Formats: sequence, C-alpha cells, structure tokens
Amino acid sequence: MHDHRRLGRELGLFDSDPLMGAGLPYWLPDGAAIRHALEEYIRREERRAGYQHVYSPVLGKRELYEISGHWSHYSEDMFPPMDLGGDEQLLLRPSLCPHHALIFRSRSRSYRELPLRMAELGGMFRSERSGVLGGLTRVRSIQLNDAHIFCTLDQAADEAAAALALIRRAYAALGFEPVRFRLSLPGPGGKYVAAPQLWERATALLEEVLEASGVAWEPGPGEAAFYGPKIDVQIADHAGREATLSTVQVDFHQPEQFGLEYVGPDGARHRPVMVHRSIIGSVERAVAQLIEVHGGAFPAWLAPVQLAVLPVAAGQLPEAEALLAQARAADLRAVLLRPDEGSLGARIRQARLVPYQAVVGPKEAADGLASLRLRDGRQPGPLAAAELPARISAVVAGQEADLWP
Ligand SMILES: [Zn+2]
Repeated sequence: MHDHRRLGRELGLFDSDPLMGAGLPYWLPDGAAIRHALEEYIRREERRAGYQHVYSPVLGKRELYEISGHWSHYSEDMFPPMDLGGDEQLLLRPSLCPHHALIFRSRSRSYRELPLRMAELGGMFRSERSGVLGGLTRVRSIQLNDAHIFCTLDQAADEAAAALALIRRAYAALGFEPVRFRLSLPGPGGKYVAAPQLWERATALLEEVLEASGVAWEPGPGEAAFYGPKIDVQIADHAGREATLSTVQVDFHQPEQFGLEYVGPDGARHRPVMVHRSIIGSVERAVAQLIEVHGGAFPAWLAPVQLAVLPVAAGQLPEAEALLAQARAADLRAVLLRPDEGSLGARIRQARLVPYQAVVGPKEAADGLASLRLRDGRQPGPLAAAELPARISAVVAGQEADLWP
C-alpha cells in the first residue's frame, strides 16, 4: 500500500494551505475528478436501491443538537457555538441525523411510505486537535455519504441487511478489502443514552443481520455510538492503522427524542425506527483509501484521466483532435498529449497511470484507426477510431476491474 499523503501531493490530487487551516484540505482538478466519479457512483447505487436524496444545511440551532443528544454526549468533538446575539446560537453540525429527522417529521407520514430511505452526501464537522490533523483521513470538514431509513421495527433487519449488501458491493467495485466486521457495543465509562432494553433489542437485530450475511465478525466493546450499537466495517491504511469506513446502525433513541410518528394500517400513530448507514463513510477517507490501495493506478471508472490521445507527429493532430472530441462527447475524461510535449515514448511514460492510450500515427490516421495500449501493458492493436470511445465507455460504465474484457 501507498501513503496517500505523499502520493496525493505527487499526483496533484489534493493539498492544504496553513492559511485555509489545518485539517481543511482542498481538492485539485484530478482529485476532484475522482471524488466526483465516486459521488456519482454512490448516488446511482442509492437511487437503484430506492433511496431519495435531500440536501440540508451544514449548520443548525443549538437546540436541535440538545434534542438529538449530541450536545450532551458528543460536544467535545464539536466546534464552539456561534453567538448570533439574543439567545440564538448556531452550531456546525456533527452529524446529519437531526436534520433528516426533522425532514421526516415535516409532514404526516403513512406506513405506506415506509421504509423511507433518505440519503444525502452532506457536510459535517469535527473539532479535532491541530496536532493530529493531516491528509484526507484526519480532517475537520467532512463530506459524509449518509442515509437514514425510517421504517417499522419489522422492516429494520431487512433494511440493515440490504445496507450491508450495498457496502460489500461497493467494496468490490472500489477494490477495498475490509480487515474486519465489528459489532460495536457500549463499554464501561462511555457516554450513552439510557434505556437498556432498547440497546438489547438493537444489538440482537444487528447480530442477526451479521449472522445472516455470512461474514466473520467480532464484538467491539466501547465502540458504539452514544445512541445505539452499530456494525462497523474496518479498513487499514498503509501503516496498518485501522479505521471505520462504513457503518450500519439501528437507533430507537432519536425517533423518541424527535417524537417521530407514522400512521399505521390501524389508523393509530406509531414510532418508526431509524437505521443510519453509510456505504463509503466520508468521501475524504474513501479517496484516501483509494489512493493507498491503487497507488495512482485507479480503476478506469475512477481514473482522473481515462484516455490519453497520442498523435505520433503534428500531421496526425486533426485526427487526434477529432478522437479527443468524440471521447469527451462519450463522457470520458480524455486528454491530448501533443507531439511538441515530447517523444512518443516520453509521452507514453507520462501517461503510464492512464488506463487507455490511443496512438495515432500516419497509417492509423489514413485508415481511420487508433492503436490502443492499456496501462497493464496489453496492446489490443489498431481499432476503428470512431468506435473506440463507445467501447471504453462501456467498460467504464460497468465498473469493470478488467480494462479490456
Ligand atoms: Zn445518522
């Protein structure tokens, strides 16, 4: 594995500036391209799985987090409140759950709407000490791939299981290998909301989900959220340090705190359960892991540049430019490396992390062809230039691991 901090700078993916602040990295164009591809992938997977997307603000009134319990159980990880005068205080949000709970209760809900799967790729903040900040893994501003499923108690196990299946599918597409599945439980001395019978019920439910999924798992005392137990999918970085990337949590606490209700088939009001889940966790940590795992040779669908077009000499520039335009029209991230940027060999080396390279020499130009070279060394040979972008697009769209199946 590679160190994402070193490689992230070398490849021009992200950086930071002391004047912007520690733990507040910015994304350079190539890093932004990876992030965008990842976000698009997640949103599409979620749409296919029946999630609906919302946007909610990254700030909220202090009272909101008093109700959710974050203020009393989590405030050491939160930034100090912003005083607006009078009694009004705003907080940078430490999680998205309270906002989603309010969206759920913004109108009356029927059992027919459940399970209601509300997703958002949204900002949140964590007040980390300056000394521990760095790269994309210890940051103060976080973009979270989050969702809350409001459902009946009977639906909760199926929803949690489906979320776990989404996580495993995403890991296959991203090339991630979990080091362990952990059932995170309360531990001595932690700050947790009371109600032992609800903890027992939520724990039993998650145990059942883990058992049914067939993955090996272990208990993690002291690792629970303050409001409930959770399944944590653990990954490791280049130095072997473990971190949680994905989570599935069952929560009886916040529905209670926010007085969430739906009207059941019996016409009476019932309390839903909230399943919190994140497929790839924070976008920052997910991209750090991508860099560490792939070392810059990203899967084609995530690569900042997917196709490099290489005319051998200036005489083939018109054909190369036409191919570039076609590739961009086919939604590929493509660049043209011009002959005045170096010899063909030097340009091929420059593009060594690009999954597809299309060489256009005099013979290819005359015959409407391009010679395809793959990052893995294979050379499928001369192909009709007009068909090349669509063929590459098809591989990219399928999140194929093989560059030329
Ligand atoms: Zn949540």
